[in-house]
Amino acid sequence: MRLATPHMGSLYDLLADLFSRMGVDYHDTPRTTERTVNLGVKYSPEFACLPLKITVGNFVEALETGADTLLMIGGIGPCRFGYYAEIQKRVLKEAGYGFDFITLEPPKVGWINFISTIKQMAPGCSVYSIYRHIRDCFRKAQVLDMLEKKWLELAAYDETPGDTTKAYAAAQEIVKRVTRPEELADAQHDAFSIMDGVRRDHDRKPLRIGIIGEFYLLLEPFFKFDIEPWLIKRGVSVDRGVYLTDWIGPTTKNPVAGMSAGEIEIAADPYLKHTVGGDGLASIGHAVHYAKEGFDGIVHLLPFTCMPDTIAKALLVNVSEDYGIPVLSMIVDEQTGKAGVHTRLEAFLDLMANRRRSWTRT
Ligand code: SF4
Repeated sequence: MRLATPHMGSLYDLLADLFSRMGVDYHDTPRTTERTVNLGVKYSPEFACLPLKITVGNFVEALETGADTLLMIGGIGPCRFGYYAEIQKRVLKEAGYGFDFITLEPPKVGWINFISTIKQMAPGCSVYSIYRHIRDCFRKAQVLDMLEKKWLELAAYDETPGDTTKAYAAAQEIVKRVTRPEELADAQHDAFSIMDGVRRDHDRKPLRIGIIGEFYLLLEPFFKFDIEPWLIKRGVSVDRGVYLTDWIGPTTKNPVAGMSAGEIEIAADPYLKHTVGGDGLASIGHAVHYAKEGFDGIVHLLPFTCMPDTIAKALLVNVSEDYGIPVLSMIVDEQTGKAGVHTRLEAFLDLMANRRRSWTRT
């Protein structure tokens, strides 16, 4: 069995680490490129949401390069993500590919089902060792997420621009080298010491932007159009509503992003009183949080035809008016290009800088 999964940011690194510990032959699926997008668009239903098309493209490239078994997470709830595995399987069979397909239902659907599906992939592992490997890899990925959050927030304060970005790269390497759980605490300490060792000017008042929206766009660099490093290079301090380990984690506490599901619901309540699937409610909750925290603006990313974040987009108009915070909602589809996204962001930065100047004059 040569197992492949679709890409979603650092998910590949986490799974490569996990499967190597469990002795599973995990395929290095080519990273998402224009070709992946074109393949996904060719085989997927026209009105499918963008992440479905891209993950189909990932699977086609995995099968072309030697994978024979495809793994996809299942899902529950009103969002179309719950149907992805079934649609991917059908689309690829109709396209003539031969493969085995495994759907991993999330633990909240049932722990027994979750563990027995993993045991199917790693028959030589005991249930306890599966639990231990998942726990150890997850904790390591969580430290990497915490480093990323720190990088996004602090790079704008560097006395010498670029120092935090270099420190972040070095810190990541230290944590990625960890193979045994007892090494993680020291690696975490060393990694954060490197980040904290950068000389910063905390009197500086950089523009602060919160990035919210649909989880796949917020986690997959190809469809985030490198906006985070782009903003950091322009001296902006960034925060993001979704991190990988919060999204896949077994609890709803979201320790990396720092806002639990309950806190998100309370923040969103004046605008949206119930879940609408996907990240619709989370987008509103995070937007209210950023507004209350005095951020200068909010960037909202949503895929074309995404129902939950389309609802959020409409409600964000009210959040923007009530708190006087600019919101830039960008709908992303397979035609969206990096240059266009960066041009819109450039104008958004000008708007926020002008607002700052007008406050200073009054
Ligand atoms: S959140 Fe939106 S884009 Fe993402 S899977 Fe659900 S419907 Fe599709």
